[in-house]
Order: sequence, then structure tokens, then C-alpha cells
Amino acid sequence: MSWVERWRLNWRRRALWSALAGLVVALLATLVWLAGRYEASQVQSRLERDAADAVNDIRARMSRNLQSLQALQFGDPRPDAWVRGANALLRERRELLRVEWRDSQYRVLAQAGTPYRPPVFERLGRESVQSEINQACNAARRISAPAYSTSYFVPMTDGLGIEVMELCLPLATAGVTMGYLVATYSLQDLLDDLARQLTRSQEVSFTEGDGTRLAMRGSANRTSRVFSAQHLLDLPGATLVLRIDSWRGAPDLFPNVLTALVTAMSIALVSILVLLGKDMRRRLKAENDLADALAFRKAMEDSLVTGLRARDLQGRITYVNPAFCQMVGFSAEELLGQSGSFPYWPPELADEYKKRQAIRLAGNVPPREGYESVFMHKDGTRFPVLIIEAPLINAQGVQTGWMSAFLDIREQRRVEELSRASQERLQATARLAMVGEMASLLSHELNQPLAAISSYATGTLNLLQHGAHTSADIELAMRRIAEQAERAGRVIKSVHDIVRRRDQARELTEPRLLIDAILPLMNLQARKLGVQVQVQLAPDLPPVLCDRTMVEQVLLNLARNGMQAMDQPDLQVRTLTLSVRRAVDDARYLQFAVADVGPGIAPEVAEQLFTPFFTTKAEGMGLGLSLCRTVIEQHGGSLVFEANRPRGTVFSFSLPAGEGTALP
Ligand code: ADP
Repeated sequence: MSWVERWRLNWRRRALWSALAGLVVALLATLVWLAGRYEASQVQSRLERDAADAVNDIRARMSRNLQSLQALQFGDPRPDAWVRGANALLRERRELLRVEWRDSQYRVLAQAGTPYRPPVFERLGRESVQSEINQACNAARRISAPAYSTSYFVPMTDGLGIEVMELCLPLATAGVTMGYLVATYSLQDLLDDLARQLTRSQEVSFTEGDGTRLAMRGSANRTSRVFSAQHLLDLPGATLVLRIDSWRGAPDLFPNVLTALVTAMSIALVSILVLLGKDMRRRLKAENDLADALAFRKAMEDSLVTGLRARDLQGRITYVNPAFCQMVGFSAEELLGQSGSFPYWPPELADEYKKRQAIRLAGNVPPREGYESVFMHKDGTRFPVLIIEAPLINAQGVQTGWMSAFLDIREQRRVEELSRASQERLQATARLAMVGEMASLLSHELNQPLAAISSYATGTLNLLQHGAHTSADIELAMRRIAEQAERAGRVIKSVHDIVRRRDQARELTEPRLLIDAILPLMNLQARKLGVQVQVQLAPDLPPVLCDRTMVEQVLLNLARNGMQAMDQPDLQVRTLTLSVRRAVDDARYLQFAVADVGPGIAPEVAEQLFTPFFTTKAEGMGLGLSLCRTVIEQHGGSLVFEANRPRGTVFSFSLPAGEGTALP
């Protein structure tokens, strides 16, 4: 995916998320607003109900007052008794400020004032409100029923004032109006009784049509939202408006359960949105990381020189890397999905490979170190490969197929071939060198028996010519000749045995046989150099598995080196010891040692001892030791040397014992 595409995708995702977040916030805001409105309407209607109830209460109270006032008139008709009754009534009803008994001409016959206040009309004078009294009583007379005046303000001596209203009750006897009872209501006190039922957050008042407050109860707190409800209190002759205001405590965040619930849900929703956003971001990051990891993996696979191929459990190719494609010359498209027989199998080997594949698909685990095979390039060239296979396990731990790595081992093979050829050449050279040396030795060794034969023959001829002989003499001479001839034959055979190149497989060989085979040749040289050869064979030695000729050659080489080292004019004792025993550190090996008592090996010589062509001898080739080591290592052993005590050098090598295997 290009960066432009990725940027566009990111932008789109971000826009979608913003739109979703915006919608959710708008929805939540609407919900909260609706909840608030619903709650407000609830409060409003409750307030309306309260106002209606309050008006009913006031009406009931007023009609009770009316009854009490009427009852006053039916008591003792004497004025002082009337005043007593009126006083009792006034004590009981706080809202009544004053009660007057007036005659039909509105003249006061008797009167009583409330004990709870200072005389109300003291400052204003009762006469000044005569018009209101007249208004009420005129109306009462007209309708022959109690009537009220409009309310009016009465200033008091204490500087304040109150709003009052007159009630006029006609007193009729047999249909004739005899007089009037005039009662003065305090609007303020009328509200008092109501105010007790109201909550602290409510305010109740009487207002005029234009909203002017006439009397009021409750503490007004106008800082927050106010709900208000009005209800008419229409009385005969007068109409009042009762108004209830309600306000709510600030701050008004959770007005009721519904709003609180919606708000809580909104918060939860927004939180979930935020969490989802975070999760999304994390996922995006993981996606990016994954893309990076994939890119990294691809770069890595592309840079590999090892071919990689994955197959599923049915043997279908599910993946190949560029190195593999290059190796076999087919493109990934040509290879993917292939199963059964693959195009890079050489046709002549396809059957064998099919069998191998069947074994693999049956669930057999391949060898960990891999196996070699031959593949065919698209152009038909065959090449050797090293295949290392491992089960392909997925994240759930289930095997889904096989992953194979391929190494083109053409180059490795070429190098191996080269080194093998050069080694063979070297061996041949060494053998030739040895043959040359042996030829000179042979001529020296054969000289002796030939000379002996020749002298025996001459002696015999002399005896025959002179006749002074017995047949026993002749026989002895002939036997000596035969012995010498036989000895010469043995010398030649032993050389022949060793020099002859034998492509012989390894065989189980008794150590003694190895020693015996080289002894005659060794003795030849030993005799020439005045060396005494000792052989020490531990008892009960198992046979060793080896190429006889090669090991004999190694022994011969080491012995020759040892004897040559002891070829010093001042050396009195010249002993070469050949020994065979079980290796001390590992009983599965036999240890062969060739010890001399020569001058030993100087450190600077020791460093290069095994380097081919390194020699300190005028006629030496410097190949002996390096070849010896190669031979021993090919047999799975090792060749080492150390100083001999008290002087000289010990060369020793190990060979695996062939125990448990029957001798051929
Ligand atoms: P060459 O015998 O042809 O010189 P080698 O590889 O057999 O080649 O030996 C290399 C050198 O190692 C010899 O030239 C000699 O200096 C030294 N060397 C080998 N064996 C002995 C020994 N037993 N004592 C002292 N020096 C030795």
C-alpha cells in the first residue's frame, strides 16, 4: 500500500470517527435538553396544581370566616357581648384585622381590633377608607350577600404598611337589611396560613393584574430559574390573583433522576466512544507494526541466498522465496499451488522423489542435519542441493505443512572434488617418492642376499671342481642359497604390497597384522641405520576398522621419520619403539605410538610439522606427516606428537576399535 493510499484511508477513518463522535454528542445534548424540559414541565404543572389548591384553601378559609362572622350576630345582641365574641374571633383568626358592626347607614355600632397588631387605622383614620367600605357594603346590599371591596394599602405607624380588603356582610331580618358586619382582611396574613404548606423554595403572593405584588409570603431567591403559576381568586366585588413562584437550588445540573440518568448514560457513552477510539488507535498501531514486520520479513527473504519453500499438508507449494525461484529458474506463479510432481525434479528421479515425498507427508520427521538431493533448473541442468526440512507450526501450535530450506551445493561439491583430486595426486607423489627411496633401500637390501647367493654359488662350484666335497656340504650350500633367495623374495613382496595401490574398503584388522606387514621393510632400514626396533603389543587387543595399506603406510612413515631422526653420529643408543594399546581417555579407540630417542622437535619445527612440503631434510619431500594426518583423520582418529622421556619424540595416532563386529 502506498503512503498516499494509507494517508487517504487514515483520513477517511478519522472523518468517520469525528462524524460519529459529533452525532453522539448532539444526540446526548438533545436528550439532556429534552429531559430538562420534561422536568420543567412537570414542575410547572405541579405548581399550577399547588396554586389551584391554595386558592381553594383560601376560599374555604374565607367561607369559614363568613360563617363565624354570621354566628357572631346570632349571639347576645348587646354590644359589649358582641365585642367579646368579636375579640374571641379575632384572636382565633389572624387574617381578620378588625370587625365592625355598622347600622344600615354604615355607622359604627361596635367594633373590635386584632390583638396581634397595633391599631391598623391609627395613622390613616378609619374614615379615610369609607369609600372602600361603602363600595363593599353597596355591593353587599345589592346582591343581599357578603361582598368584598378592592384591596388597598394602609400605611402603619411603624413606617410599613399592609394591604387590606374589606368584607361587608349584610345583616338582614325578615328580608330587611338591619345593618352590616364589616371585617377587614389582611392579605398578608391570609397568605400566612398557606405559606406553612409551601416548601422553602416557594413564594406565594397576591398580585394585581399587572403583576404588582400586593402581599407576599416566602423568601424570594431570584438568582436561579423561577417557575410561576397564577390562579384567580374571584370574590363577590373583588378579584385577586394568587401567584406561586418556585425556584430551584443552584446549580441546576441534575434536576431530576431522569436527567441524571440520561447524563450518566451520556457520560458512559462518551467514555465508551473514547475507549473505542483508543482501542482503534492501538489496533491501527498494531496494524502498522505488522505491516512493518511484514516488510522487514520480505526484505529479509529477498536478501536470502538460501531457497525457501513451504508446502501444506497435502504437499501443495504455498510459498517460495526469490532465492528458490532463482535456483530452479521457475517463477513463483509457476510454482505456487503445484503438487504431486514438481517441475524442478529431474524426470529420471521423479519416482524416487515421489516416494520420498509420500514418506514425508505421512508425517515422518526428516533428519535435522538435512539430506542431499538433485534438482533440475528450468534449462535442464542438474545440480545438487542440501535440503533441510522442518514442520511448519502455526500460532495455535498446529502443524500446517512443511518448510524447507535449500542450499545449492554445486560450489561445495566442486571444492570437495578439487581437494580430493589434489589429495590423491599428493598421495601418488608421496608414494612415488617412497618408491624411489625404497628402490634405493631395496638395491641395498637385495645386495646382501644376492652377494650371499653369489658367494655360496661360487663356493659350491669350487667344491664341485676340486672334488673335495661331500654331498652334505653341497646340500648345506644349496640350502643357504635357497634361504637367501627366499629372503630377497620376501623383501620384494613386502615392498610390492605397500607400494601397490589398493582401492580397498576398510576391513577389520588385527593390530598385530599391521605391524607384521611393515616389520620386514622397517627392519631393512633399521639395519642400515643401526636402529633397534621394539614392538610392544598389549594383550587382548580388538581388531581395528581400517584401510590396511593406508595405515601400514602411516606406520611406516612414522617409523622412517623416527629412524632418520636418530641417524646422528654421536647417538649411541638407537631404539625405535612401536606400541599398540587401548587409548587411555577413550576405550573405544586403540592407540598406536612410534617413539624414538632422537633429538626431539624444536618449537619452530613443531609449528609447521604438518604443513605439506615442510621438511628439514635435504632429500625430504615434507609430505609424509601431512598425509599421515589426513589418513588418520579419514579413519575417524587423530594424529599427535609429544616429547619422549628422557629424549626423542613420540608420534601417536588413534583408530576406532572394531569391537562387536565379527572378523571377516
Ligand atoms: P619428510 O620426512 O619428507 O621431511 P615429513 O612430513 O615426514 O616429511 O616430516 C617433516 C619434518 O618433520 C621432517 O623434515 C623433520 O624435520 C620433522 N620430523 C618428523 N618426524 C620426526 C621425528 N621423529 N623426530 C624429529 N623430527 C621429526
